[in-house]
Amino acid sequence: MYKLLLEEIIGKMRKSVSQGEGGMYLDQVYYISSDEGILNLGTSSKFFKEKLESLGFIKKIEDELSERNGLAIKVNIEIKKQDPSKPEQNIQKRDKGGDTPKNHPDLKEEFTFSNFVISTNNELAANAAMAIAKAPGKFYNPFLIYGGVGLGKTHLMHAIGNDIYRRFPEKKVVYVTAEKFTNEFIAVLGQKPKMAAFKNKYRGVDVLLIDDIHFFQGKEGVQEELFNTFNALYEVNRQIVFTCDRHPSELKNLTERMKSRFMSGLNADLKLPDFETRMAILKKKCSRLNVSIKDEVLEFISKNVTTSVRDLESALTKIVAYSDLIRREVTLDVAKEQLSYLTATKQENVSIDRIIKAVAEYFNISSGDIRGRKRTKNIAWPRQIAMYIINHLGEYSMNEIGNEFGKDHTTVIYAIQKVEDSIKSNPTLEPVIQKIEASLKDASEKG
Ligand code: ADP
Ligand code: MG
Repeated sequence: MYKLLLEEIIGKMRKSVSQGEGGMYLDQVYYISSDEGILNLGTSSKFFKEKLESLGFIKKIEDELSERNGLAIKVNIEIKKQDPSKPEQNIQKRDKGGDTPKNHPDLKEEFTFSNFVISTNNELAANAAMAIAKAPGKFYNPFLIYGGVGLGKTHLMHAIGNDIYRRFPEKKVVYVTAEKFTNEFIAVLGQKPKMAAFKNKYRGVDVLLIDDIHFFQGKEGVQEELFNTFNALYEVNRQIVFTCDRHPSELKNLTERMKSRFMSGLNADLKLPDFETRMAILKKKCSRLNVSIKDEVLEFISKNVTTSVRDLESALTKIVAYSDLIRREVTLDVAKEQLSYLTATKQENVSIDRIIKAVAEYFNISSGDIRGRKRTKNIAWPRQIAMYIINHLGEYSMNEIGNEFGKDHTTVIYAIQKVEDSIKSNPTLEPVIQKIEASLKDASEKG
């Protein structure tokens, strides 16, 4: 029960002892078990046990743990060979630095295939990704993963990289976000030797992973460079993988030839996971964190978080942190209270019809226009606002909202994102939305 706290404390201690001798001893501690007020640690020899005690590490762990926990915790350390069948006893080494990392420096260690739940919403993408990792450059080149935010694009891309890095240590795997690629390119503009080094860096790889290519929209100079990089790699069968927040055909301000390159291989989309898959994701995450959360709590989260896997995880993290704090399993009531933001604005499920009508009235157009197919700005923008408000006030999934408009969920996610961005950049928008939402609430109070 104290494993997470322990990891955090040891992580912090590692930093303060930096690369010296102390860090080496800390690496010898592993977690065995814990119970209310007691934490049992193990180390492999008498020598290590004595060192850990004489350097004050055990006392320090005890003090820190007790302080964070709010109640005294006794820490025991015993001499015992670590059971190799229980790798979960290892204490995560964060920010260790120093010796050569076993993991790719730019890839997240936990973004692996085994941590990725495969279901109907992502199976094509996941299976293709696994095939690619077994034989990079052979099939599906380029491979493009697309879908809304927080649905696992970066996770899958890192999983490909991690797997190739492990299977083929001789292969050069480079991961870069489109933003970083662009910034690096801009930084070397007009400087011949540096530009040559930049080109070499990306043209000399076996596997190139570029995340979030929608970022290239409207950036012509870097598109040209990417186009050339692409061709150089593609000609010699180097694997290229892209992710994008929408289908590339919907990208704007991108040269046609670049678009066609993006789409020329396999395009696989990630959709929102259904309820069962959301449960499976939460359960996997719990077992990885070695925490136990009641099924009814996980069901509550799965039922109410329908926006993205990222949101699902952040709700779970909140509950895990709270459970650590109260040192008890979280009950459903407590979970509801802790996650009140999930249900607060959604208690009464305002109907989609009423929302569309209110938005139409505000903008002086008809409900039919909002539901229709016209793409002129004076209609498309209210339509996006309607999607945003439906998501905000109603308890509907992205798919349900999409169905109302004859659009798929990625369009809905995009609309919501766009309105959210506009709220940030345009101070006059939020009052408009508040006004429409208030009119819906008034009406429902009246009856
Ligand atoms: P994106 O790049 O599409 O915005 P990410 O890859 O960053 O999304 O995923 C957001 C979070 O959701 C990550 O923590 C990731 O591990 C998790 N996640 C997404 N899909 C899955 C899945 N199918 N199984 C397990 N975790 C997932
Ligand atoms: Mg991402």
